[in-house]
Amino acid sequence: MSSVRKLSEYYGTLTFNKKEMRNRLSKKTFEEAVEIIEKGGKLTPEMANEIATALKEWAISHGATHFAHWFQPQRGVTAEKHDTFLSFTDTGEVMESFSGKQLIQSEPDASSFPSGGMRSTFEARGYTAWDPTSPAFILKSKKTATLVIPSIYLSYTGEVLDVKTPLLRSLHVVEQKAYDMLKLFGNRTAKHVRTTAGPEQEYFLIDKEYYKKRHDIIFTGRTLVGASPAKGQQMEDHYFGSIRPKVLDFMEDVDVALFERGIPAKTRHNEVAPNQYELAPIFEDANLAIDHNLQTMEIMKQIADAHGFVILFHEKPFAGINGSGKHLNWSLADSEGNNLFDPGNSPKKTIQFLVFLSAVLAGVNKFGGILRMAVADAGNDHRLGANEAPPAIMSVFLGDYLTVLLDDISKGEFKSVNEQKFADLKLKKIPSIVLDNTDRNRTSPMAFTGNKFEFRAVGSSQNCAEALTTLNLLLSYGLDIMTEKIAKYNKGEKDIKDAALKAIKEVAKETERIRFEGNNYAQDWHKEALKRGLPEAKTTPEALKYMTAEDTVKLFEKYEILTKTELHSKYEIKLDAYVKTKVMEFNVLKDMVLTRIIPSLVKQLNTYSNGKEALKNAGKTGKFLQEIISEMDTTLEGLNEGLKKLEKTAATIDAENDLVKKADILSVEGNKLLNELRIFCDKAESLVEDDIWEIPKYSEMLFLYND
Ligand code: ADP
Ligand code: MG
Repeated sequence: MSSVRKLSEYYGTLTFNKKEMRNRLSKKTFEEAVEIIEKGGKLTPEMANEIATALKEWAISHGATHFAHWFQPQRGVTAEKHDTFLSFTDTGEVMESFSGKQLIQSEPDASSFPSGGMRSTFEARGYTAWDPTSPAFILKSKKTATLVIPSIYLSYTGEVLDVKTPLLRSLHVVEQKAYDMLKLFGNRTAKHVRTTAGPEQEYFLIDKEYYKKRHDIIFTGRTLVGASPAKGQQMEDHYFGSIRPKVLDFMEDVDVALFERGIPAKTRHNEVAPNQYELAPIFEDANLAIDHNLQTMEIMKQIADAHGFVILFHEKPFAGINGSGKHLNWSLADSEGNNLFDPGNSPKKTIQFLVFLSAVLAGVNKFGGILRMAVADAGNDHRLGANEAPPAIMSVFLGDYLTVLLDDISKGEFKSVNEQKFADLKLKKIPSIVLDNTDRNRTSPMAFTGNKFEFRAVGSSQNCAEALTTLNLLLSYGLDIMTEKIAKYNKGEKDIKDAALKAIKEVAKETERIRFEGNNYAQDWHKEALKRGLPEAKTTPEALKYMTAEDTVKLFEKYEILTKTELHSKYEIKLDAYVKTKVMEFNVLKDMVLTRIIPSLVKQLNTYSNGKEALKNAGKTGKFLQEIISEMDTTLEGLNEGLKKLEKTAATIDAENDLVKKADILSVEGNKLLNELRIFCDKAESLVEDDIWEIPKYSEMLFLYND
């Protein structure tokens, strides 16, 4: 950067934040708008017009010529359609216009967004509607700029077509239930409860020149072939090393762009795998945190490109090398800033904390399968289904102290909870101990980390709105359970500590099976989990079956998050996406084998047979070259066989009309075939000289840099 700019001076300059609103709106409209943002409500048409005009003027001052409703369809993370501000006066003069109506609602060209067959049943059109709780922002492009309006996406008959709407609904429900629980504990000061989230984003960077030559990465996001490099990951020197200057340069530009958008990026560092990195934000209001994560991904993509990199968000771009996730940190806080997962510093606060903790346990215990379902897709299967963390079994890690405490409580007999009892139960010690005693287990899909949960099963490419929606839903369910149980034990007394402790005791017993402190990567855990009756959906098609299960539908309908129809259509969309991804992998691999791998092998074969000929002419046997040639022949045979099997299965899938069956074949047989064929591809790579082999190797993409 040429001139020195202070972060605090440019932070948030590209968002229509409160400061901007205060400057540009009348006092009345500003106050009402803030009220709606904080508590919900409806805008009057007059207010909408005033805000639209202010937004337009602000956007034009940043060079905007267009506006866009930006939304989160069920597939593809985000989408937007740009419309110009251009309009004409009665006398034909050009002007910029933007009305309240345009701000609030817009109709994207909906026909191409997936709706799982729903739209044909109902209504062909969908519309986007402004989400005032997420501020509009400026998308800068090379020549001009666009005013972007975060929106939800619904069909005209009201069916949900996006993932933001259910998230907003789930936030509404869980925040109300949490608030009610605070009231039950006699809290008189809190005005509301808000959910907080901080998604940590992992990613790989590779040089663009390599990317261009990798059709597998271009079309499927991951490498379908590639032999393990000699160096591998064993050294782990990358994690502790300093950040490469060229990468740091990229990170700096990302941070500046994020700060301008008011996105609070906090840390940037190397991750475990070579060329793998992470960006973690400061946590925010959950809805905003999700929007910001999606914007972050978009910004990173563009800036990577400008730096000669391509960013890979795929969960497993390189076989045999650590994959990428998106650790979702999640908590709730009241209007006074008290974190509800903070163990608290008085017996009452601590028991209240244990009630919230128990509610999470109750939710995960009953609906762990749904939590797995929320993060199911083809990419994430490589992490969750394989021997890489976290596994597909949903368990919770609490740390030694809380585990012992819950065990004690579940064994204990107490009629009333006096001072002595608190001391006996070590309840008084919780706050200090918990904070520095947790988070040592990095293998658990869901870890309590001192004053928040860290849900680690989300994939790096995913919109974590769906996982967050599910966590909120499970907690809502759990809070209902806790409320019922407390009511059962409370004999009309004002102080509910005794009743609450009894409820905690019950849940501690009931949820023992989902508490696991051991190594979640270990093979033994799979056996143990089976004994405990915990579900383990290894593949996406298996996990998605939860979506239409009776229990799931009941849960989603009870809390008015999604209807049965919506869940069924979502199931279809996800399954369809899975099938398309896998079929694409089939096609790309086949193409690479035929147009790159076999030709390279044959070229090499020619040079060796020339060599062998030369040796023979010199009176030698050429035995060694003959051995290599035989190995090449075996490899060619393997490739031939693998291709035939792939084609046969592809034909079966093509002929199959049932989506569920297609997905099942692909997830079992399909993956096996891809892996089998890959072995011969990687063998070929090891037999061909560098100058002939055209596909960039792992060693090049991960270790040999262009800078
Ligand atoms: P560490 O991973 O080293 O323990 P932190 O605990 O500070 O680091 O935070 C990790 C991530 O969790 C950050 O993105 C942070 O913003 C987020 N986070 C911290 N506290 C909360 C909270 N109360 N609610 C939601 N996310 C949080
Ligand atoms: Mg992390």
